[in-house]
Amino acid sequence: MTDKPLSSPARIKDIATRHGFTFSKSLGQNFLINPSVCPRIAEMGGAAKDTGVLEIGTGFGVLTAELAQRAKKVIAVEIDKSLLPVLDETLAEFDNIKIINNDILEVDLASLLKEEFDGMEVFVCANLPYYITSPILMHLMEQRLPISAITVMVQKEAADRLCAPMASRDCSAITFAVRYYSEPKLLFNVSRGSFMPAPNVDSAVIRLDLKSERPEGIHDEKSEKFLFSVVKAAFSQRRKTLPNPLSSGLCLPKAKIIAAMEQIGIAPTARAEALTMEQFIALSNALQEIK
Ligand code: SAM
Repeated sequence: MTDKPLSSPARIKDIATRHGFTFSKSLGQNFLINPSVCPRIAEMGGAAKDTGVLEIGTGFGVLTAELAQRAKKVIAVEIDKSLLPVLDETLAEFDNIKIINNDILEVDLASLLKEEFDGMEVFVCANLPYYITSPILMHLMEQRLPISAITVMVQKEAADRLCAPMASRDCSAITFAVRYYSEPKLLFNVSRGSFMPAPNVDSAVIRLDLKSERPEGIHDEKSEKFLFSVVKAAFSQRRKTLPNPLSSGLCLPKAKIIAAMEQIGIAPTARAEALTMEQFIALSNALQEIK
């Protein structure tokens, strides 16, 4: 059976039976069985002979193995302890993989990257557990870690939202965050039949190339924090015109918000989904002055 690839359903069933492993829906355990997907994620995600790769969620190690074949070193964080004996077996041939049994949201990534990848260019590659897509992306982006790019599989609907342009109907607070911290790109779609067990939705692989600088107009952590509170408030009631959600979310009088909007040339009838990144920054800076 070991002659079959890790993406083969027969091999997955055999491993699951021998190790008494049951797929956990609540941990988002849908493993890849389409053999063409992992090599593409590894190659398009930056795994190369001098690079370090952080993987989130190994499953049986199908992507981990592809990453380890190409990268100098792979650190993989997996929450499910019952996968450890499986990985001992499936990744036995590699000496450049370290598995960390933890919740990715609990890991001190700044220290981990420094300890494990000193001097290497670092990339993140993963088939993400979909139930925590946004928290994981925020965890990776907002700390301004030394990561060049994040290449991840997410639900197709989430991919569309994450890669939507600003000032479009699909955009939301997470779209803003992605555009603020990175240059997003939708790489390719993956059908639901590419997984075992098959989920109810299709997926897509996206790549976020991280920016090293704050955008123009945002000079420090305080104005960045306030900007994100403005964006959160603005999208909390996206159908309403901006003075309403901003007034309740930021505890500011509506009249002052309308005056600030007019001062920077945004109509008070505008909704969150109509604003560009630059307009959000200008609005935030104007509101911060009157706060
Ligand atoms: N990489 C494998 C593949 O492509 O077949 C598995 C991908 S599966 C969609 C997601 C994986 O993330 C599972 O192995 C699951 O146990 C793991 N996982 C779920 N929540 C996690 C968390 N908070 N931290 C780390 N790993 C997690």
